Amino acid sequence: SNHLSDRIQKMSTSATLAMAAKARELRNEGKDIIGLSLGEPDFNIPDFIKDAAKQAIDDNYSSYTPVDGYAELKEAISKKFKRDNDLEYKPSQIVVSTGAKQSLFNVALVVINPGDEVILPAPYWVSYSDIVKLAEGVPVEVKTGIETDFKMTPEQLEAAITPKTKMLWFSSPCNPSGSVYSKAELEGLAKVLEKHPDIFVVSDEIYEHINFTSGHVSIAGIEGMYDRVITVNGVSKAFAMTGWRIGYIGAPEWIAKACTKLQGQVTSGANAIAQRSVITALEAPKSKIQYMIDEFHQRRDIVLQLLGEIEGFNVNVPEGAFYVFPDISSYFGKTLNGVKINNASDFALYLLEHANVATVTGEAFGNPSCIRISYAASEKELREAIARIKAVV
Ligand code: PLP
Repeated sequence: SNHLSDRIQKMSTSATLAMAAKARELRNEGKDIIGLSLGEPDFNIPDFIKDAAKQAIDDNYSSYTPVDGYAELKEAISKKFKRDNDLEYKPSQIVVSTGAKQSLFNVALVVINPGDEVILPAPYWVSYSDIVKLAEGVPVEVKTGIETDFKMTPEQLEAAITPKTKMLWFSSPCNPSGSVYSKAELEGLAKVLEKHPDIFVVSDEIYEHINFTSGHVSIAGIEGMYDRVITVNGVSKAFAMTGWRIGYIGAPEWIAKACTKLQGQVTSGANAIAQRSVITALEAPKSKIQYMIDEFHQRRDIVLQLLGEIEGFNVNVPEGAFYVFPDISSYFGKTLNGVKINNASDFALYLLEHANVATVTGEAFGNPSCIRISYAASEKELREAIARIKAVV
């Protein structure tokens, strides 16, 4: 209806959720669809976390929670930042939210003014551009390709900066490319930002633990950056807790305070039971979740090997997260089984309808040459899906 606000009419529907809906529709028609479109671990929540949640219910954690999170949880997050990232965030610099998505939304609304530019190295996570637009900011895409492993170079960053630039948002490990910025690469970006002290950085580290390189580096720890970085993290991916909806930030105190003020008028504090169980999750040693990371690593290698056998798939080696992001532009202009492939959306749709495999077009992530394949699925499903793809291309 055109009685809807301009704001919502201008917003795009999450492409990953749209693809999942389309796959569900085909499944309801009786088709055997393999879904590789969602960014969701296919593991159960580890038992020690479930136990903590059950205990929290029995202990009557049922009242409204502090807007910025339980003090014990913020303490646990503060320790986690120190232990895993060598970052000093006091509890007063931490805000717990209903998923990292809300953390990002809070930051956008408290930092961005109408017309402010936000640099998004593309490919970027689908929601960044719409969240920025909701805050009336202007997303500025910096295109990267497979030749730089889908990472933005310092030269590209420099060239994208204008007097209106307010922020840079990026994820490492990256959704959708799986790319991981090394310390040297982050230092290169920081060197450029040194000359522009009024630019703030959102560092989305939600895939931190799903990292197959020697280690994760936080840009907040790079010299000169701490006072203008908002470090975003959460438990959805590493602990397979997507539905429990807990994310958090570590940030300069004035930003944390503003996020709390905003959240206090929107959702209030995050869910009590989920927060209590996250205290247990974050206090646990990483060895408790290593089995999931090892499994993702193995699957990545299988997927890379199998996709490597398909002509026309140009694949980089993702070093983290659970996605591969093949460049399939060699198919553009070709006709497959009577279907003309003009772009990545056509290709993803073709795979859905002819191979019964759901992926996501790279266009949603700001890269129209690629598709995203999630390997958060069983090895059996992955082998079957890739065999089907191979058969129809
Ligand atoms: N950031 C990135 C890069 C993601 O991929 C996701 C989830 O897909 C999120 C943030 C949101 O996570 P949450 O479930 O904590 O809202």
